[in-house]
Order: sequence, then C-alpha cells, then structure tokens
Amino acid sequence: METSSNYDRGKPQEPLTKLIGGVAVIKKINRALERLNNGDFGVCEECGREISEERLKARPMAALCIECKRVEEAEEKIKGL
Ligand SMILES: [Zn+2]
Repeated sequence: METSSNYDRGKPQEPLTKLIGGVAVIKKINRALERLNNGDFGVCEECGREISEERLKARPMAALCIECKRVEEAEEKIKGL
C-alpha cells in the first residue's frame, strides 16, 4: 500500500507574513476611519481626485484612485526586481 504522507509536506507555513499582512490591514482601516472623520474619504491620497464609486465598492479601504494604484504597483514591481 502506498502512503500519502508526503502530501502533507507542502509549502512551509509563513505565519509572520500573515501577521504583517494583518497589521497592514488594520493600519489601512484606521487610516480610512481617519479620512472618514476628516471628510476626505473617497479622495485619492496621491492626486486628490475622487476615487470612483465602483472602486470604493470593491475596496472600501482604498486610499488611492485606480490610476495612482497602478503606478504604485508598477513601482513596487520595479523595486521588487
Ligand atoms: Zn490618484
């Protein structure tokens, strides 16, 4: 009979990465609440334009409009390489 014990030996877990991700989400929520209090919720932090309603529906915590987010992601990719 074959054992499938090596099936459990998948990728190592990365709890630290998950933890950091959780903190980042909490920070985002806090920032969104601050912005809500300041009355500039739904305004892009980068260019000051209104973030589209569709984007806010999909990501209520979005701090950047879709265009600035694209630039940010592109920059992160370059830095990552
Ligand atoms: Zn923007």
